[in-house]
Amino acid sequence: MLKTIAGFDRIGEENAFAVLARAQALAAQGQDIINLGIGQPDFRTPEHIVEAAIKALRDGQHGYTAATGIQPLREAVAADLHRRFATDVSPDRVLIVPGGKVTMFMAILMFGEPGADILYPDPGFPIYRSMIEFTGARAIPIPIREENGFAFSAEEALSLITPATRLVIINSPANPTGGVTPKDEIDAFVAGMAKFPDVAIMSDEIYAQMTYDGLEHVSLLTYPEIRDRLILLDGWSKTYAMTGWRMGYSIWPDKLYENARKLAVNSYSCVNSAAQFAGLAALTGPQDCVADMVAEFDRRRRVVVEGLNSLPNVSCATPKGAFYAFPNVSKTGFKAKALASALLEKAGVATIGGPDFGVYGEGYIRLSYANSTENIRAAIERMRTFLETAN
Ligand code: PLP
Repeated sequence: MLKTIAGFDRIGEENAFAVLARAQALAAQGQDIINLGIGQPDFRTPEHIVEAAIKALRDGQHGYTAATGIQPLREAVAADLHRRFATDVSPDRVLIVPGGKVTMFMAILMFGEPGADILYPDPGFPIYRSMIEFTGARAIPIPIREENGFAFSAEEALSLITPATRLVIINSPANPTGGVTPKDEIDAFVAGMAKFPDVAIMSDEIYAQMTYDGLEHVSLLTYPEIRDRLILLDGWSKTYAMTGWRMGYSIWPDKLYENARKLAVNSYSCVNSAAQFAGLAALTGPQDCVADMVAEFDRRRRVVVEGLNSLPNVSCATPKGAFYAFPNVSKTGFKAKALASALLEKAGVATIGGPDFGVYGEGYIRLSYANSTENIRAAIERMRTFLETAN
């Protein structure tokens, strides 16, 4: 028998992909499925970005690049961060990675080992916990609560830190809740972290440009006092509708950058060269494509929230960021996963059960509103029919 390391008994995955596969299988059998499960923009990548990749291929950009990414792209990331947050980042601290996930993979590998604790948001992106457990570290959930507007509580997060804690992961705007943590809470978190100078922070800001109602995203990058232990995760997937291009970036503190670069050299060598030129065009080209997409998500957000709140025994807080609604379904008489599964099998609506995002996700389901308004309205009506007849 082949014997692999014990981590593989503990590694999890993202159920969103299993739901997608099931939805596609049902659709292949001829069923009409509305997919509100998967978390990716339904828009095409803007044309000028696609053209830049085609040009790069035509120009012969076919070889390896530096493991850290092409220099103009790292400079463009630094300039973009300066534009958005009026903060200076050296291009030498920017690492171009194949998708946002790779940053969390690297960060968790750097700090996770038996005996270590890593804190992560729950409900939250499922890969945090999966990767933490893979390394043998203890995954300690930071509860994300509806009564707190699905923001993380600085006090609660700080109270979970022990001498075993090596890394704290935070995420705002958040998947799966759409919660945005307000500035005073982030201020309190950063201030409290002064007591724990040996604990690293990974801030997942992949939805940074998707906030609504005039709310401004507060980047952890704007706090100089934690720069020496902050890992920033961001990328192109959501902002520029580029999930399939596998383009992300991270900002690393001086001490960790070399580790990250070596992990890159040891695993993927460099990100697809043409995709890097596409990423460059995204950052240096017109930004109205981002504003237009966010405005469209905002319109759909209103439709989905209003629709969900009109359903029997369902209530939905208005998400302040990302493109997810996380309605409370605890009064429907269904466990959340059973409801998600019944909605897919019987009503043809793909959603994800809250427990797929952690133990504090029970009582909720996640709907991605990265789908047309027409489909969202139809999905709500299907859910209404299902809930009215099921009760
Ligand atoms: N972080 C969060 C919170 C996400 O929701 C996602 C994707 O859904 C990612 C990171 C990963 O993004 P990427 O597709 O760029 O790997």
